[in-house]
Amino acid sequence: MSGYVKTVKIPIHYDTTNKKLSYLDNLTARQTYAVQLFCDKLNEEGIVPKNRAEVREFSDYVREETGLSAGFIQQVEDKVLWMYKQYKRSHDKWEWSMDNAKEGTRWYIKLEEREPSVPNPKKSNNKVPTPFDNRTGEVQRTDSLDLTEWVVHISTLKKGNTIDVLVNPSDWHEEQLEEAENLKTFEIVHHPERECEYMVHIVCEYQSDTVQTGSVCGVDLGIKRDLSAVLIDNNGVQQFTILQNHKAERLKELDDRIAHLRREEKYEVLKKLRNKRERVAEDYDRKLAKQFAELLPDGTTVFFGNPRDIRYNKYKGNGDKVGRKLLQHWSFGRIIDQCVLKLNETGKNGEKITEWNTSKLHYRCGKQVERPYNNSFQRIRCSTCDDELDAEFNASVNIAVKGISQYSDKSIEPNTFWQNMAGATDDIARTGDDLEAKIQ
Ligand SMILES: [Zn+2]
Repeated sequence: MSGYVKTVKIPIHYDTTNKKLSYLDNLTARQTYAVQLFCDKLNEEGIVPKNRAEVREFSDYVREETGLSAGFIQQVEDKVLWMYKQYKRSHDKWEWSMDNAKEGTRWYIKLEEREPSVPNPKKSNNKVPTPFDNRTGEVQRTDSLDLTEWVVHISTLKKGNTIDVLVNPSDWHEEQLEEAENLKTFEIVHHPERECEYMVHIVCEYQSDTVQTGSVCGVDLGIKRDLSAVLIDNNGVQQFTILQNHKAERLKELDDRIAHLRREEKYEVLKKLRNKRERVAEDYDRKLAKQFAELLPDGTTVFFGNPRDIRYNKYKGNGDKVGRKLLQHWSFGRIIDQCVLKLNETGKNGEKITEWNTSKLHYRCGKQVERPYNNSFQRIRCSTCDDELDAEFNASVNIAVKGISQYSDKSIEPNTFWQNMAGATDDIARTGDDLEAKIQ
């Protein structure tokens, strides 16, 4: 069994009284103030917290200043930690871009100005929502009200006091809430631009009905071939599939235009185009995920390599110049997330495996492979047993093997797996290109 989560955003009821609204104003302002105090302290001391303990050092102080209860304070800690993790991620990305920009160019100067700054709510002047969980609130279903069936029940700042805030879900919202296995946490988010003023963002957890068919699938992501997958069941390799959706060509086109605009220093158009690139990429990823999920039998467990490893080990310095340039905004992580979501929605499992450095090793004997082989990055040759095979086929099987060993409770026994893999490989790898499926 596996689960997935979705955030459902529902406006609060238009009939909410002014008294309740002013209460929400007060509460969210207090939460924002608490976030602010944490940020002030952390920024003063130059700490970018990596764990809870580093945030918690200031909790007593914040509790005293704001008068919030321990439950609220812990939720603020969660939020603060999350904010700094986001900051760290975007700062790393920025550093990477700086390393790759040429010093002294206008682009470099522009980029320099764009350094992500540390979290500081005061600066943006927006309210910062913090999550409520079972210590401070609950989303409840009720049939005692005429206006709505759903209410959000929250603690007030006075001990033991609670209030009910009515929400106004659409049919779709209701369906999502009813199907959820568990309503995990929610945030009360200020939307001054909307008439409702506040919305409740509810994190819903779903369980997918998985049927154990005993198949596993190893997935290797790439740029020339967007997604290569090997499907294995108790009878050995069933399918080697390559999905290509021409995302690379389309993004290359956009990149060329971006490069041109950068030379012309047209920064306004540039900004718009960069957003467009992001949207186009996301759209391709979603389609790829859908196509892939639909190809697999119900109950398949799919393993994906760790995107970080793909980025740093696979392409750096392997001579694939086009690949390296495109990688900057490629986001294997997002492709995997999309696939996992689609798989879960269609009754399959998706798992990321944490350790993967085997695109260079022959899956059968574990020894180094030659790549490129015969002037082709697509083919590899094992240095030890002389087997020649498709590079992505080898990588996908390696990922499946790692997955099987890391999730040993899953349906395939490693021993059976190896028995059935014995004679299965090369032919299927060679016919792999014939099975290629294309997405429009
Ligand atoms: Zn070998």
